[in-house]
Amino acid sequence: MAGIEVVSFDMEGTLIDNSYSNLIWETDIPRLYGEKHGLDMERARAKVLGEYAQVGEDRPEWYDIDYWFKRLGLDDDWRELLRQREDACRVYGEVPRVLESMSGEYTLIVSSNTIREFLEVQLTKLPDVFSKVYSAPSDLKTVKKTDSFYGRICREMGVNPSSMAHVGDSLKFDYEEPRKLGIHSFFLDRQGRSSGEHTVCDLDEFEEKLRFFS
Ligand SMILES: [Mg+2]
Repeated sequence: MAGIEVVSFDMEGTLIDNSYSNLIWETDIPRLYGEKHGLDMERARAKVLGEYAQVGEDRPEWYDIDYWFKRLGLDDDWRELLRQREDACRVYGEVPRVLESMSGEYTLIVSSNTIREFLEVQLTKLPDVFSKVYSAPSDLKTVKKTDSFYGRICREMGVNPSSMAHVGDSLKFDYEEPRKLGIHSFFLDRQGRSSGEHTVCDLDEFEEKLRFFS
């Protein structure tokens, strides 16, 4: 079996938890909306979450914070908000050590469904080990990490899918879609509710599984 050359990671739920994004989308934006329109937090949140639902996650606007600030009539500087909240980025415990260890052996990249402006803040909390960072909505104008998203990454990286591994916490978008192409994908289940040949409970186990390819 060919060796692994490129190892790709999902970001949220994989390298860092969801608290940074959740804080901005579910607390800060409703709070700013409430301040602007004179609503208490409960009403403001219900209104904003209703607006999100109207757009839905299949449309590119869903991921576009600039669009939401305009749509909700917020005149605050969202870039400043993203910087102010950087301390809410929580890196999973084993991640820095595993990334440092794997960087000696593989080319490491990020393949994320998060917009670039969020990724830029999140990356400052991680070791500087990534050769490339791909954002599906910002760089490739796709809303989901489908097989075509991974195909473009392989072409850009000049790597055969069978020489690439990927890990992430979405069964569909981090495991099934890349596997369609022949990428060695793994499903990260940090709660340990599922098990299987291609399931890992943390990145230590992922690193361990990749040793079988060398
Ligand atoms: Mg994820």
